Amino acid sequence: MDTSLQYALDQDQKDVLHAFRDMFHIPKTSSGQDIIYLCGNSLGLMPKSTSMYVNQELDDWKNLGVEGHFHAKNPWMPYHEFLTDNMAHIVGAKPEEVVVMNSLTANLHFLMVSFYKPTSKRYKILFDYSPFPSDRYAIESQIRFHGFDPQEGMIELTPDAGSETVSLTHIQNILERHGDEIALILIGGVNYYTGQAYDIKTITAMGHAKGCVVGFDLAHAAGNLLLHLHEDGPDFAAWCSYKYLNSGPGSLSGCFIHERHHQADLPRFAGWWGNDKKTRFLMKDEFVPIPTAEGWQLSNPPILSMAAIKASLDLFAKAGMDRLRSKSEQLTSYLEFLVLQNGNNTLNIITPADPNQRGCQLSLQMTNPNKKLHEYLTKHGIIADWREPDVIRVAPVPLYNSFEDVWRFNSILAEGLIQF
Ligand SMILES: *Cc1c(COP(=O)(O)O)cnc(C)c1O
Repeated sequence: MDTSLQYALDQDQKDVLHAFRDMFHIPKTSSGQDIIYLCGNSLGLMPKSTSMYVNQELDDWKNLGVEGHFHAKNPWMPYHEFLTDNMAHIVGAKPEEVVVMNSLTANLHFLMVSFYKPTSKRYKILFDYSPFPSDRYAIESQIRFHGFDPQEGMIELTPDAGSETVSLTHIQNILERHGDEIALILIGGVNYYTGQAYDIKTITAMGHAKGCVVGFDLAHAAGNLLLHLHEDGPDFAAWCSYKYLNSGPGSLSGCFIHERHHQADLPRFAGWWGNDKKTRFLMKDEFVPIPTAEGWQLSNPPILSMAAIKASLDLFAKAGMDRLRSKSEQLTSYLEFLVLQNGNNTLNIITPADPNQRGCQLSLQMTNPNKKLHEYLTKHGIIADWREPDVIRVAPVPLYNSFEDVWRFNSILAEGLIQF
């Protein structure tokens, strides 16, 4: 690697996925330049094909009305099934283990209905260091809902002494001490703040060895890391589709429920869409769940949102997660290399340096935190995300970000670091 712009342009030339950038709408500055968009971890960009996919459903609704359930080009009755194979592939699951439904926080709640079954001896939830607030609220309110005290019931992973990240040894120590009291381990696949990727397989095995149920919030992992949910064996997982999966603001969530639970007699909040498809429209009194992850569905889903997911998943299928991850590792290492050239007296990368412990995001902690720096970046056509008190999160996304984006970002950052 070297620091020249030419190096970045050469890498883009060599990039087998470079053509995908043109399949996305890249936002423009007021002077018509491409924005350097490093915020795909918050809201992924819009594929150009999305309009076509959504318009197809609008046209079918316009022309067919209710008949679209069966006679639309992509019939709405089974529409969610059109997403399953690609979504299952992205998270390394069997198609029966995956369903797209609801939104992420809603799914965390519904999954906890089935998988958080506290008893007076074992009622605690071990959760991610500084989790996304919604996860904390969901966990806290579930504990309260079951009549326990969240003060007692919540065990937050803290970073190792002198570090920003959490080691497996540290998790193992907590499990040695509190394992018998922990009903559920619910942590992120990638911590949204530090960018640390957790070892799903090892944490699942450690949790199961102590008799805990293990679930993952993959909001920052799905479409970012290579995942093997079936093999790694967590009990459940959920993720949103609007971050790395580019499916539009507030779009639906993916859910994974390991097949070993499909026939188990678990508590669940039921709805008609989870009922056996053969009898669903007989409007019978008895609920007969579909014996797959689909049995957790509640409502007939929003087709327009699903059309946007379909557009994006079709691109993922073309690009392939292996190729995406391989470019992602290169792109993020390149970002790391350039950023470190600015000298470690200006900033510190809190994301692990080991590529196996991170996705594409790097969290840059400023030595002299000054929000003016972030304003400077924004003014110069960069969209990156500032987290109080001192962190800028940047996520070069392999589907549409280029090595040139990364180079330009760092040259503007370097200028800004001198000024602020
Ligand atoms: C983005 C994100 C959410 C957002 O939840 P919604 O229900 O989709 O609004 C929740 N948890 C984590 C970890 C996230 O990264």
